Amino acid sequence: MRLVLVGPPGAGKGTQAALLAGHYKIPHISTGDIFRANLKSGTELGLQAKSYMDKGELVPDSVTNAMVKDRLTHGDTENGFLLDGFPRNVAQAEVLRAFLGERSRPLDAVVEFSIDSNEIIKRLSSRRTCKACGKIFAAHLDKCDACGGELYQRDDDKEDVIARRLEVYAEQTAPIVTFYRGEGLLITISALGDVSAITDNVIRALNSKVN
Ligand code: AMP
Repeated sequence: MRLVLVGPPGAGKGTQAALLAGHYKIPHISTGDIFRANLKSGTELGLQAKSYMDKGELVPDSVTNAMVKDRLTHGDTENGFLLDGFPRNVAQAEVLRAFLGERSRPLDAVVEFSIDSNEIIKRLSSRRTCKACGKIFAAHLDKCDACGGELYQRDDDKEDVIARRLEVYAEQTAPIVTFYRGEGLLITISALGDVSAITDNVIRALNSKVN
């Protein structure tokens, strides 16, 4: 299964991505997670990404595309992959289509999570992330229930940066929904409701689309 997940920040993409990757036994490739890991370990890639991430802007395509292409050549992607946070604009979607096309490994589906913007702001400003394992929580826990790690608020989950991330989504990322609809790949799922019910809805929709 070769999948892309699309949705505004706060739609629950990261949570669903981890669950779906587990279900299909495919690697979960989150460009945001790769950038954050590079930032934490102080690599050149992390330094290149930092100023953009801090402002809620997209990291330049040249940097992001090269990073994703490199990741997609790893052996663990042979039986599929789940991309979370990439592509983020139509130019990236075109690069991905060409890259996978050259390898005769086109996408099977693109899952869009739909949610309105009031709900997004509510979710993101209360979201906390585990420093150690990256798991995402609503605000009320003290520690990560998976690994006991400390929870923190991502700098780009603060209110002014959230506003810019939502603008960037509307201007640059939302057009890929139209792009993938045109390719016949799009499945739209409501991001409201119970986490496991949403995962079930995605799996059901994928089963009827891909089989
Ligand atoms: P995320 O964790 O997906 O919300 O990503 C956090 C930040 O990483 C974004 O706000 C961007 O600055 C950067 N980023 C992640 N994915 C991409 C991408 N495909 N293209 C450009 N920048 C990205």
